[in-house]
Amino acid sequence: MPELPEVETVRRTLTELIVGKTIESATVSLPRIIQRPDDIKRFEMELIGHRILEIGRRGKFLRIVMDGLVLVSHLRMEGRYGLYDKSDPVEKHTHVIFHFSDGTELRYKDVRQFGTMHLFPAGEEFKSNPLAKLGLEPLDSSFTADAFREAISKRSTKIKPALLNQEYVVGLGNIYVDEALFRAGIHPEVPANELSTDQLDLLYAAILTTLREAVEAGGSSIKSFVNGQGEMGMFQHSFQIYGRKDEPCVKCGHAVEKTVVGGRGTHFCPNCQRPKELINKAPIKRTLSNRSNKSKEVRE
Ligand SMILES: [Zn+2]
Repeated sequence: MPELPEVETVRRTLTELIVGKTIESATVSLPRIIQRPDDIKRFEMELIGHRILEIGRRGKFLRIVMDGLVLVSHLRMEGRYGLYDKSDPVEKHTHVIFHFSDGTELRYKDVRQFGTMHLFPAGEEFKSNPLAKLGLEPLDSSFTADAFREAISKRSTKIKPALLNQEYVVGLGNIYVDEALFRAGIHPEVPANELSTDQLDLLYAAILTTLREAVEAGGSSIKSFVNGQGEMGMFQHSFQIYGRKDEPCVKCGHAVEKTVVGGRGTHFCPNCQRPKELINKAPIKRTLSNRSNKSKEVRE
């Protein structure tokens, strides 16, 4: 699933490709993608004649801002946008087409059909779902160490699910949460309210570094993610912990383990990310050769 860096990459690409274009008409062939308004014909009608002014992002949602309208789009598992000429054959799984006045088309393809679109009058989009309850935006100037501590430090849930909760901080998914916790040296199952101020500050810094590096690299290309121009992201080459089960930890050499936290496959180093009760104990001596492999395969 695309996380903040991937959606940010799509946002930047779409900005280059479609800002300034005017929608002549729109065609929806899979009604369930359109969550608002209820009526597909109204969705198609409302878009006619609107010019695209900018592409924004809130968490993992794209905001396609037009004169007077905003389209909020979530790619979910495998949604993708691509710019085509109207004479190009329409590929399978294309569910929504925005026909522009210059003869090009923005096409939305989604094999899994989980993606969503909500159309709002401009400015209204923040007042209702899906954007209304979203938490802190990590790449925004309002995301300070104080704001992060305030959002996280009173939660009694484990830190990993707390970071995945989009009502506290947006944009982080399974991959970047594992990466940030590893970089901060924090065990994914420590209750959020048991983290010290120092640990929360380390985690705050780790989230920023991880996301910034990933955005810089153009997002990850795990599974089928491709940005709007068909370019693959490059960040998967920089993963320090995610997807590295049984490989040596980049910090200490201990085998990386995979477990399940809050129903999600979770990578961590048992030596560098100790639960609280083990923090002052001697380093774990288990090595790659003698460890037993009890990890279960779960969804990513
Ligand atoms: Zn380690």
